Amino acid sequence: MANILVTGGAGYIGSHACKALKKAGHVPVTYDNLVTGWQDAVKFGPFEQGELTDRARLDEVFEKYKPAAVMHFAALSQVGEAMSQPGKYWANNVGGSLNLIEAAVAAGCLDFVFSSTCATYGEHDNVVLDENTPQVPLNAYGASKRAVEDILKDFEAAYGLRSVIFRYFNVAGADPDGEVGEFHQPETHLIPLMIQAIRGERAGLTVFGTDYDTPDGTCIRDYVHVCDLVDAHVLGLKWLEEGKGSQVFNLGTGTGFSVMEVIEHSRAVTNQDVPHSIGARRAGDCTKLVSGSTRAGEQLGWEPSRSTLDQMIADAWRWHQSGHYEK
Ligand code: UDP
Repeated sequence: MANILVTGGAGYIGSHACKALKKAGHVPVTYDNLVTGWQDAVKFGPFEQGELTDRARLDEVFEKYKPAAVMHFAALSQVGEAMSQPGKYWANNVGGSLNLIEAAVAAGCLDFVFSSTCATYGEHDNVVLDENTPQVPLNAYGASKRAVEDILKDFEAAYGLRSVIFRYFNVAGADPDGEVGEFHQPETHLIPLMIQAIRGERAGLTVFGTDYDTPDGTCIRDYVHVCDLVDAHVLGLKWLEEGKGSQVFNLGTGTGFSVMEVIEHSRAVTNQDVPHSIGARRAGDCTKLVSGSTRAGEQLGWEPSRSTLDQMIADAWRWHQSGHYEK
């Protein structure tokens, strides 16, 4: 049983990771500034509020809990905002992560699991991406995550820091027990927005562009269930504990769905219409982001079990009936 420092543990993916870590016998220590996270979502271990940019606070937390490893989720993650306010992304995601990595090394905590993204790949003509696909991000969000990947490599060479980097595709769904779920304010992600539109909580969904080079003209994404995704993190931690060294893993299912297909599936799963209209492209969006997870399957033994689109929509839908956090 070891303490694991989970930055962003009050957020969507981080809170699900805390639940999975607890189930695996670890103590997840959440470090979160609560800017986009929710204290109500911290249910599985201790909570320490703080900024990634506050080195003294980080040192204090490393000293108090002596974590065996760090799982670093805390980040800004909206493509639209990254296009209009890139400085925020470089300062927070890169500056904050650098500070955290330096604090971890200073504390002798050398196992590091990092949330990266398929947005680091950028536009690649209709190919299924793998970990060796060149990383040419289209927006400051992807660029900031790629920069942190580079920092981790440099810190391995200099200080022996070992990292497991997960490049996520589109994370969706919620804890089937309903203890935690996805709740962003403002919400910008397709599936929760669609659920809000169905429930009449917003006027309707705008489909961002129907003139992409895809069969129905809308963007294609690879959706993965949050519970499957965090299970991979527990396996990644074990990988590091076993001394297997640094590695990068894509986490996707290999199946892509267009925005229109997601709308169709939502209509079928919820048995309700999805009010939507067609709008302009959103700046920074790639046409298609789809990956297999061959490496994660072969090397980590990761097998997604809930990542069908219908299951993700059904779990998100169920959570949304009751699941809200209060500030
Ligand atoms: N999308 C959309 N309308 C919305 C939000 C998203 O058409 O209101 C599209 C977006 O352009 C992308 C896909 O849905 O093609 C998934 O977007 P999301 O923001 O959920 O995740 P991202 O791919 O940016 O990580």
